[in-house]
Amino acid sequence: MAELFSIHPVADFPTVDRLSLEVLQVNLGYRCNQQCIHCHVNAGPERPEMMEKPAIDQVIDFLRSSPIRQLDLTGGAPELNLHFRYLVRVAREMNIDVMDRCNLTILEESGQEGLYEFLAQHQVEIISSLPCYLRENVDFQRGDGVFDRSVRALKKLNQLGYGQKGSDLTLNLVYNPLGAFLPPPQKVLEEEYRRELGQRHGIVFNHLYTITNMPIHRFALRLTSKEEYQSYMYLLRKAHQETHLQSIMCRTLISVDWQGYVYDCDFNQALGLPLRLGERSSVHLSELRGMDLKGNPIPLLDHCYGCTAGQGSSCTGVLRESSDHKSKATT
Ligand code: SF4
Ligand code: SF4
Repeated sequence: MAELFSIHPVADFPTVDRLSLEVLQVNLGYRCNQQCIHCHVNAGPERPEMMEKPAIDQVIDFLRSSPIRQLDLTGGAPELNLHFRYLVRVAREMNIDVMDRCNLTILEESGQEGLYEFLAQHQVEIISSLPCYLRENVDFQRGDGVFDRSVRALKKLNQLGYGQKGSDLTLNLVYNPLGAFLPPPQKVLEEEYRRELGQRHGIVFNHLYTITNMPIHRFALRLTSKEEYQSYMYLLRKAHQETHLQSIMCRTLISVDWQGYVYDCDFNQALGLPLRLGERSSVHLSELRGMDLKGNPIPLLDHCYGCTAGQGSSCTGVLRESSDHKSKATT
């Protein structure tokens, strides 16, 4: 099992330092209405961890003290947090761009009435996973019935103006592979999604982000159960591109957990590897008011190959578009 969550520094990664902060990513809790097989935070309906109001207010305090202009809300399903709408409202009043990592089906859950309209009214950017444009593949990864509910949600978002030409309501989709392979070229797959979702369902969207599956938690367990963990790690290492180290997302982003503790990224949060500051091995967001973290070193570990392999990967897709635009994208 030790190999599963390998956290040993990797010799061939050079030291990488932080740039100025641009994005605050906040995990509002691990509860989710879904239980996807690739989920790197092991989210699900039974998870009790949810950010409470005092920690939400610390997030707001930090934003007030910082030049950060982007707030990236994730979970679990971030909308399940009772203070989600409060946080969005305050951040938007501060003119901060808010991204909601929305799993789409949450929009259709009871108790979430008015959520579509709320997101549109506050011009929240929506980033939604849709690992394929085919029902069977989506339902395989995300659960029975998820595809049909996702399509219903996407159509309603389109009706509100999301993803439409000339609209300022942004709808981006996320693809991640269904198995132990790297994503196909992002641009190619985006065109394929646009064509297929348009022709089959009349759905429009702004961009498709391709994201590499991280070899951690639920996905790592699945790889191990199929005896594919070692070969997947080999694939990632073999496809490592040194140049991506310049643009890995942890250089400009910090990730905050439901209790307000800070990590270099969401993946490190999932692994329980906090941001290090000098001799400190654990830092709370409330201690970083007014700080930028520029120059702070980022320890890179085995799972970081998930960010540097192939086209590179981040929460907003590839780090560099692949030149291989001729290869056929497959989902
Ligand atoms: S991948 Fe997203 S939608 Fe699926 S269980 Fe995890 S947090 Fe929920
Ligand atoms: S997993 Fe990616 S984003 Fe996180 S520390 Fe490693 S390289 Fe940076």
